[in-house]
Amino acid sequence: MTTSRSTAEWQALDAAHFLHPFTDFQSLAARGSRVITKADGIWLTDSDGQRILDAMSGLWCVNVGYGQQALVDAATQQLRELPFYNAFFQTATPPAIELAALLAEVTPPQFRHVFFAGSGSEGNDTVVRMVRRYWDLMGQPQRQVIISRVNAYHGSTMAGASLGGMSGMHAQGGLPIPGIVHIQQPYWHEHGRHLSKDEFGFVAARWLEDKILEVGPDKVAAFIGEPVQGAGGVIVPPATYWPEIQRICDRHGILLVSDEVITGFGRTGHWFGCETQGFRPDLMTFAKGVTSGYLPLGGVMVGERVARVLIEHGGEFNHGYTYSGHPVACAVALANIRLIQSLGLVEHVRDDVGPYLAERFEALRGHPLVGDVDTCGMMAALLLVKDKTDGTPFTPDLGLGMVCRGHCFREGLIMRAVGDRMIVAPPLVMTRADVDHMMDLIHRCLDLTLADARAHGWL
Ligand code: PMP
Repeated sequence: MTTSRSTAEWQALDAAHFLHPFTDFQSLAARGSRVITKADGIWLTDSDGQRILDAMSGLWCVNVGYGQQALVDAATQQLRELPFYNAFFQTATPPAIELAALLAEVTPPQFRHVFFAGSGSEGNDTVVRMVRRYWDLMGQPQRQVIISRVNAYHGSTMAGASLGGMSGMHAQGGLPIPGIVHIQQPYWHEHGRHLSKDEFGFVAARWLEDKILEVGPDKVAAFIGEPVQGAGGVIVPPATYWPEIQRICDRHGILLVSDEVITGFGRTGHWFGCETQGFRPDLMTFAKGVTSGYLPLGGVMVGERVARVLIEHGGEFNHGYTYSGHPVACAVALANIRLIQSLGLVEHVRDDVGPYLAERFEALRGHPLVGDVDTCGMMAALLLVKDKTDGTPFTPDLGLGMVCRGHCFREGLIMRAVGDRMIVAPPLVMTRADVDHMMDLIHRCLDLTLADARAHGWL
């Protein structure tokens, strides 16, 4: 990109033409966008030349960090050789075939097949159609209902947003679509403080069984969840939760779907979040970390239970996307996965930088504003509270999380606010020294937020 403009020029052009995702267009136009012009490692540079530590890996995706030459080379070579061909009509391309085989290798053993899409949302649309198709082929077409969770995020397409449990999204566009119902999320801080975390895990899993019995076990097709809720605020479930969910799904023969769009490709210290959380899904949605975000790619890993039926009894599955198996995206994914392997990033997260991040976040409990912390691999959250002794929250309309996020921006740190949960998901390539640097910035921003809260009399 050679065009050079001042920040004000970029902002004016942006405001004139670009409608951003999940944005109040009018208020953004008034404030002006932050324009990111380049990046290297864990650092972004904006159009004013300010360097910013990207503790969110772009949007939970740049697992290998920015500026990895192997990915650039893979894309360049594939663009020269064959920039596009589709996978419809009895054709395939070498990168898509190679990637399918490599994914079968790095995913849990029940997965030998993949259906490619262009994004996580498209992957989850595929899940909805595929599980219903599976039950049709199994002679149980009445099994239509998919159970998901409040405050889940599964994408922004009609099916993705319906699977998600975000009330703000359901309020626009007539969602959810029929046949999708929600149970409460396993968020101990909000729903289980009177119990131990382990006890609460069983209680929260039991909500699934209650819903299955309410809907009728013969009508339920699948349960879908993120191993650790990401966009919902890095909500790490108690260790007892997922194994119990697995037992309930098994008991009723219901397909279990793990949305690994955020938790895949090393983020939690295993290749996939289901391995960290101890369950064995039938289907697994992926995107983001598969290419470290360098190019768009998503898809669904299809376990043998489902794949066998689709392949052996199937006929045509009337579903697919122009970019299913895009050769350049697949070439980048291949280079990305090989890089994760050669750098030993999964082990790095599991044995070194993940535990170190957890240790440093645990120490934040000493800060006057921090009521709880949660970590899982390279995902972490802290909760801002008014009263640490009993976890009393701030009144939501004060927007303290957004105040804190404002300080982060000004101090050169990308940290996201979900209500009063401040969350990070940094690149997996971070060193301990990088974590130290990030924690210094977090401390400074927490202190500035505390000073604001005191000045306003909010404490
Ligand atoms: N599932 C999960 C768990 C996600 O976090 C996201 C995106 N943040 C999606 C699905 C949707 O992915 P995409 O934005 O690529 O459509």
